[in-house]
Amino acid sequence: MYVASKKRQCEEVGIRSFEHALRKNTKQQTIVDLIHSINEDPEIHGLIVQLPLPEGFDRKMILQAISPEKDVDGLHPLNLGRLFCDIKGGFIPCTPKGCLRLIHTVQKKLEGLKAVIIGASNLVGKPLALLLLQEDCTVSILHSKSKNLARICATADILVAAAGAPLLVKKDWVKEGAIVIDVGINHLVDKQGNSYLTGDVDYESVHKKTKAITPVPGGVGPMTVACLLENTVIAAERAANQSKFKIW
Ligand code: NAD
Repeated sequence: MYVASKKRQCEEVGIRSFEHALRKNTKQQTIVDLIHSINEDPEIHGLIVQLPLPEGFDRKMILQAISPEKDVDGLHPLNLGRLFCDIKGGFIPCTPKGCLRLIHTVQKKLEGLKAVIIGASNLVGKPLALLLLQEDCTVSILHSKSKNLARICATADILVAAAGAPLLVKKDWVKEGAIVIDVGINHLVDKQGNSYLTGDVDYESVHKKTKAITPVPGGVGPMTVACLLENTVIAAERAANQSKFKIW
């Protein structure tokens, strides 16, 4: 679904995209070699490895093979390190970047607000926590071993659910007037056997209490793709103006 949407939106804005669909039994070194060949191709400005990878692959090693200048998903340790150190010029991971942009559509100044993020992955929770810290929020990150989730979430002015746990966040987890960002994408099957998508937030019970809330599907997902395209344009501009963008 994501890959199809990324390809479609690339086409819409005039970015040429190429997919290398590999078999599950592909050797890790073959993937690394392919990444290296794309790194060296001056015609290509951005490269992503679609996650999650099947079991057996070393995700950290594969992500490190991507050239930081082409790492438009922002998941290379150098780009995450720049975010950690507050150094401008790295690529910001697309989903957290999109979440912050969605929050800013309803609230410009975030200083002093309490933000609670459920989920502590390198892909979403941790980088978003850093972005919200840069905005001077007071940030808590919750994960599967955290205790008293409901009580902590109910204190949040900004609540981000990125756990991959369907309908985890209920009405009494949400403070009146909170901004709720639902990152979760969960595939469920109804009684008739039809599959459908749901988020980590029980939208029906929660939405009336919120200042703003993102739906699933149609919220964070499309914004993530938009941020990926934006990062790709930035990468292309930097490649064209190398002398101006000496960041590595
Ligand atoms: P992950 O599995 O890498 O991390 C999940 C995190 O949530 C972990 O820190 C885990 O401890 C925590 N967690 C899991 N269940 C929990 C629970 N019941 N209570 C509290 N914490 C819990 O997942 P990820 O890659 O960060 O993705 C999270 C979700 O976001 C998934 O549903 C994924 O599909 C979705 N996602 C959506 C987008 C998008 O563009 N909309 C992008 C990335 C991920």
